[in-house]
Amino acid sequence: MPDEKFNLKTTGLKLSELEPCNFCDGPLRSVFRVIEVKHAAVNARNANQTLAMASGFGFGLALAEVFSTGPGAEVLENAEAVTRLFCCQDCLCGDVNIAVACERVNERRAKKNQPKEIEEHAQEA
Ligand SMILES: [Zn+2]
Repeated sequence: MPDEKFNLKTTGLKLSELEPCNFCDGPLRSVFRVIEVKHAAVNARNANQTLAMASGFGFGLALAEVFSTGPGAEVLENAEAVTRLFCCQDCLCGDVNIAVACERVNERRAKKNQPKEIEEHAQEA
């Protein structure tokens, strides 16, 4: 529910969607962070073209980007490629490894979505 007093926009999460903190496995408590991790990569062709215009023609970067054929980097937006992490207040202020947390979360979710037959064969092997 949006907060009208402070004009806050929110996205609702069902209780069934919540998980313990993905960094320490502890409880989230009342205030926590949701981190959405997306993959991104430099688009070398566009980046080189933009940088060439910026330096070769003496354009500033902002002007070169206006004449560029595309962005210098791409962010993957497919929902299945986004990893959502829940982070408690303690971990937010500590040393966390986002790559390790993403790996753990994605492995656990893959096992959860695995059909039962495949799961049984995996245990036999
Ligand atoms: Zn934590």
